[in-house]
Amino acid sequence: MTTVGILALQGDFDRHERALARLELASRQVRYPDELDGLSALIIPGGESTTISKQLNRSGLRSEIVAFARQRPVMGTCAGLILMARESGDPQVEPLGLLDLEISRNGWGRQVHSFRTTLTADIAGDRAELPAIFIRAPRIVATGPEVEVLAELDGAPVLVRQGHHLAMSFHPELTPDARIHGLFMAALAA
Ligand code: GLN
Repeated sequence: MTTVGILALQGDFDRHERALARLELASRQVRYPDELDGLSALIIPGGESTTISKQLNRSGLRSEIVAFARQRPVMGTCAGLILMARESGDPQVEPLGLLDLEISRNGWGRQVHSFRTTLTADIAGDRAELPAIFIRAPRIVATGPEVEVLAELDGAPVLVRQGHHLAMSFHPELTPDARIHGLFMAALAA
């Protein structure tokens, strides 16, 4: 049985639960290291990356997630993307280093707190139009050679994959469109 963990230290983890339920997938909230046991994959939600970073240390989950990610896929949305990066660009956020990315927090402009757009994304070999909501979103400012860019906005990557991990600047859990969660789940079959 496939159960997907959702890191529930802070942020909009409940919206990911609903997105997974739409795909008829079981999920489990993760707040303590033993809650990773038996999971097929993990989602790190949007929220406040400084808070999640501190909670990763307090909960003892930091090293456990790094070890989990060697075997299993991890997906990060917005603050989750910042936490998956190699370099967060902010000393207050100690990232997990799962993806070879450098980030600028709130890099889409502080004055524009949120916006909605349509992206053209490379999903399972098809060019797909995808609704995307950005909320105080992180900007990816550098990508390493192993990072695949699946969608860009204004010349900056906003949806990336590296090995079995997937991450994005926007919030696929806030739109009814389940294709991003479906793409992440395809990593389980690979
Ligand atoms: N601006 C937040 C941060 O830097 C991320 C915002 C979000 O997840 N919607 O942590």
